[in-house]
Amino acid sequence: MLNTEHKKRIAILGSTGSIGTQALEVIEANPESFELEVLTANHNAKLLIAQALAYKPNAVVIANDALYDEVFDALDPHDIKVYAGANALNSIVEMETVDLVLTAMVGYAGLQPTIRAINAGKSIALANKETLVVAGELITKLAREKGVNIYPVDSEHSAIFQCLAGEFHNPIEKIILTASGGPFRGKDKAFLETVTKAQALKHPNWTMGAKITIDSASLMNKGLEVIEAKWLFNLRQDQIEVVVHPQSIIHSLVQFEDGSMKAQMGLPDMKLPIQYAMAYPDRLKSAFPRFDFRNFSQLTFEQPDLETFRNLQLAYDVLAKGGNAPCVLNAANEIAVAAFLNDELGFLQMPDLIESCLAKVAYIAHPSLEDYVQTDAETRRLAEELKVKY
Ligand code: NDP
Repeated sequence: MLNTEHKKRIAILGSTGSIGTQALEVIEANPESFELEVLTANHNAKLLIAQALAYKPNAVVIANDALYDEVFDALDPHDIKVYAGANALNSIVEMETVDLVLTAMVGYAGLQPTIRAINAGKSIALANKETLVVAGELITKLAREKGVNIYPVDSEHSAIFQCLAGEFHNPIEKIILTASGGPFRGKDKAFLETVTKAQALKHPNWTMGAKITIDSASLMNKGLEVIEAKWLFNLRQDQIEVVVHPQSIIHSLVQFEDGSMKAQMGLPDMKLPIQYAMAYPDRLKSAFPRFDFRNFSQLTFEQPDLETFRNLQLAYDVLAKGGNAPCVLNAANEIAVAAFLNDELGFLQMPDLIESCLAKVAYIAHPSLEDYVQTDAETRRLAEELKVKY
């Protein structure tokens, strides 16, 4: 149980997704600590309705307006408020009765609601890494100004955050983000030329939404995480290393200035970092499966292959370049992944498309929020146009 006077009141943006549904399991297992205020979804009205009937939030938002009637008819008789559209998503996070917003939406769509939630002074449990990739400088500056804490949900960043507990005044020498390597670890370009989405969607260690699963297979996910780590922990690029650790037991490591390294370990289960972000600074008792050394005789480590998996190198490049370059990378990648899932683009053409967009979209060294919005829109237009040429 939390060491607070009242329960934490939670809004889950993206409750119908992989992180969202696991967050609901965490809330259900800890009714004395958490109270659900808001659920949101995009297309999956049926699941949103089922969740709302089961968990009785104060309000729900269906981002896709066309589904409003269906959701309203099902929930209005139960005194659950129903709203629709992207604007409603932006406003709902400001609700007075919300203490913490879990951003579990996928992609750039998470940016505006996250900004609105920070402006309203809400704590953020951040799963939506694309937000920090696109506008990390702006978001972290705003959070500092508003005195808002951003708690990482990504397992690697949660690991770093857990390693830093009690160490916040000690400078970090470097961090090491672990990567499973995904389903194509050790494969060469000739193999990747012909891989299908069915193969790419089979992650060896984690069950996640489609976009992040493809990002994991292409190592773009690790690239996005490198950028996310820069902003969450205020690091230079040369302080962020990636190591492939196929067993996904060590979730990441911090090395301090005396050379000591701390690692956070456990079986791969997103419920743990979700719960830690929601309960921080407390740790809640859980029934999650425990790691046992006797079942793992070897934990192994390899260098990532940046030549074959070019997305990770591209992410390092845009991080060095700064400005709106990470925003271009993110938007081009969202289009590339959607095209790959739609059989319009091959696996190796994804980095090609991203690289073309990076070469063509005008560079802005110090972007405003409006610049990010325009960069995102322009990159998406360009990527849609270019993808048909591959
Ligand atoms: P899913 O695809 O499983 O779920 C995405 C959620 O976002 C769904 O609820 C979906 O609604 C909603 N959504 C999608 N597009 C929009 C939109 N335009 N407007 C409003 N809502 C939208 O994704 P995941 O749960 O896997 O990932 C969510 C985020 O968490 C991503 O940023 C990912 O990188 C990050 N993350 C995920 C991890 C995981 O284990 N899954 C691990 C670490 C980070 P609907 O289903 O109704 O269409």
